[in-house]
Amino acid sequence: MTRLFGTNGIRGVVGQDMTASLALDVGRAAGTFFEGGRIAIGNDTRTSSPMLKAAVISGLTAGGCIVEDLGTAPSPAIQYYVKTHRVEGGVIITASHNPREYNGIKVIDPRGMEASREHEEGIERVYFRKAFRQASWDAVGRVAKVNRCNQDYLDAIVRLVDVDRIHDAGLKVVLDCGNGASCLTSPYLVRHLGCHVATLNAQPDGSFPGHPPEPREEHVGELMEMVVDSASDLGVVHDGDADRVVFVDEEGHYVHGDRSLALLAGYVVGREGGGVVVTPVSSSSCVEDMVKASGGRVLYTKVGAPLVARRMFEEGAVFGGEENGGLIFPRHQYCRDGAMGLAVVLELMATEQASLSDILSKIPKYSLVKTSVPCPAELKGRALEALASRFEGKAIDTTDGVKVTHEEGWVLARPSGTESIFRVFSEGKTQKEAERLSEETVSILDGIIESLRAG
Ligand code: MG
Repeated sequence: MTRLFGTNGIRGVVGQDMTASLALDVGRAAGTFFEGGRIAIGNDTRTSSPMLKAAVISGLTAGGCIVEDLGTAPSPAIQYYVKTHRVEGGVIITASHNPREYNGIKVIDPRGMEASREHEEGIERVYFRKAFRQASWDAVGRVAKVNRCNQDYLDAIVRLVDVDRIHDAGLKVVLDCGNGASCLTSPYLVRHLGCHVATLNAQPDGSFPGHPPEPREEHVGELMEMVVDSASDLGVVHDGDADRVVFVDEEGHYVHGDRSLALLAGYVVGREGGGVVVTPVSSSSCVEDMVKASGGRVLYTKVGAPLVARRMFEEGAVFGGEENGGLIFPRHQYCRDGAMGLAVVLELMATEQASLSDILSKIPKYSLVKTSVPCPAELKGRALEALASRFEGKAIDTTDGVKVTHEEGWVLARPSGTESIFRVFSEGKTQKEAERLSEETVSILDGIIESLRAG
């Protein structure tokens, strides 16, 4: 069956893949799948979001759904609403961190988690068969506007951190909302927590005039400068739908997501007195180092935040996340949660009473090398098997691709889901070791693929 949903919902370029007719049929399919019932819907700040949302709402109400329109809100705020209001499910109109010409549709299950693959397949089946539920004139659904989604989300976050302690620390924060959904939440949160806050790009604008919506180092130069110029303690930036958060230290250095993930993993495990942390196999060893040092243990999943969230739910984990700034706090909810991550970092800094660069200097450092090896799609499975058998006797993890742990680090080779390549990640204590591990694995993989091609 052709797939409609990718790893993060339905995504594409507006007017090409993401059209009003597609959104209408997705709405009709979701309405059929949810068999009427109450559905919450919300959107990010993209220029195309109101158009796509109107089409999805039309499809949902045609199938008899009662739609609660939450307006513009961060994805985690919409997910929190779904979880706490006993609706049948949710829909988010967002393309997260993608460039401005993109948009997307994401389906949320009644627990506020991103829909499972089985769930998505149910909707896909209806979509492709066009076997839509059609309500009669007297059973067509209606739409109610809901205004408290963002405030409820912030109230819940505030209840989970030590507000007095953060207040007393009087931290100075520069917050870059990137013209995305966090404009409506994070500035109010930081101010409520008693920080001195200056904002950048804090007006919602789907043309993203400040910088592209992905919080990469090359996009946030202005934030890094402003932290230094204003002698602030912390810089903060969210992606377009504010499920991710990335930090800048007081010296204006961009903090890579694996460092903040390790920092928070250690902090949360310490606070909880142990517990399980879930993260993809591609995460840096510094995460496991910090978790072990705090008395917890790490479980690894395939790459993808929805899979991390689901595993956390099953295992009763205390924390989880990815190296791109996607942090999950199960005391709040099982999804990436940008504003929650921000609040916990403020609490951590207030507790440690040290600068962020000092706090981060305690995390072990590793070097990561990323490369790729071309491989035709039809050979990927056999190449993977052959690679695993080449490393027999070593510590191998086949959760996602093949990960081999060596004395000096690890190497992960994963077939790409979308391109005819293997992605090869290697991590070592030094750049040299990481490069050596990478070269060794690339040459073995090249040899395997060559011999498979030959015969
Ligand atoms: Mg996002």
